[in-house]
Amino acid sequence: MRIAEIQVYQKGLPVKDGPYTMSGQQVWSLKTTLVRLVSDSGLEGWGEVCPVGPLYWQSHAGGALAALEEMGEALIGAEVLPLSLHRAMDGALHGHNYAKSAVDIAGHDLLGKHLGVPVCDLLGGAVSNRMISYFATGIGEPDEIARLAAEKAAEGYVRLQVKAGGRAVEQDIETVRKVWEKVQAMGTRLAVDANRGMTQHDAITLSRVCADIPFVLEQPCNTIEEVAAIRPLIRHPIYLDENTVDISTILRVIGAGLVDGFGMKVQRVGGLQRMTTVRDICAARNLPHTCDDAWGGDIAAAAQAHIGATVDPRLLEGVWLSTPYIEASYDPENPVQVVEGHVHLPKGPGLGIIPEESLFGAPVASFGG
Ligand SMILES: [Mg+2]
Repeated sequence: MRIAEIQVYQKGLPVKDGPYTMSGQQVWSLKTTLVRLVSDSGLEGWGEVCPVGPLYWQSHAGGALAALEEMGEALIGAEVLPLSLHRAMDGALHGHNYAKSAVDIAGHDLLGKHLGVPVCDLLGGAVSNRMISYFATGIGEPDEIARLAAEKAAEGYVRLQVKAGGRAVEQDIETVRKVWEKVQAMGTRLAVDANRGMTQHDAITLSRVCADIPFVLEQPCNTIEEVAAIRPLIRHPIYLDENTVDISTILRVIGAGLVDGFGMKVQRVGGLQRMTTVRDICAARNLPHTCDDAWGGDIAAAAQAHIGATVDPRLLEGVWLSTPYIEASYDPENPVQVVEGHVHLPKGPGLGIIPEESLFGAPVASFGG
């Protein structure tokens, strides 16, 4: 089975009750990029990539489209069975993992439909069909974030992520302490995510002043070197997220003993096939990780659910979906949602969702056909 046609679409995804606030930016709406692969047997597969704007890490919607345009012609005729799309993509363009992730996801959807099996079966098989999710609070006033955290814990989230960084560390300390006062008795696990936005000094201060509060400190500073410098002075487990741009870097930070786990993004490492490698490396070292995507609609969410379902629940820190933060669903009959803090594995072959193509407008790029 080979690829006969490719269409690329782009669509705006407004943030519900926006903005979504991180240490480095406020997000009101995001542009997602959708890839439709059509096989020579007439089946279709869908993929999606949606960076959280141009400031989160080295990716943006225009870059995704440009990379897909660069690779498009080379992918016509590429084999889906065996699934060798990464070989074809890497032969046409170096790097740009996030753009490649959309093709990778679409290839898995297509192959799953061809074989009549869910995508998780192609990734090693599900060990769970109901995975924990987690809620990210955004940056805000301490009392408001504590109120929101308590509300989400009561909804069924067993893990919450409190955003920090980009402001006076005293405000972050007050927020973390007030959140913990609200959710401690509920057994909620906490992560404090600075999204690269803290100085070394502030990260050390936060950790020392809050040494009595058990949380994971996620991506406190901008670079691996900064994290390495503060690592011996931090009282909390450190997870990396934005810095883990590829498998080589993941091996490097594990080998150097810099991390206790990861906030892991399907799109950043290049898609589902690459995520199985990351999952297995983490399992070999007993390192917990999430199965997230930066942002996106039902297609990205379904991909995360399928890989999340294959991770040992003991090591799965959650499947974070952006769908609670956006209005629209591509498949109103069968949306991928967070229910009581958990994500259910979609049913059916492939990704298990059938997107309504008319929602995406006319293609912005087409190849083959
Ligand atoms: Mg993060």
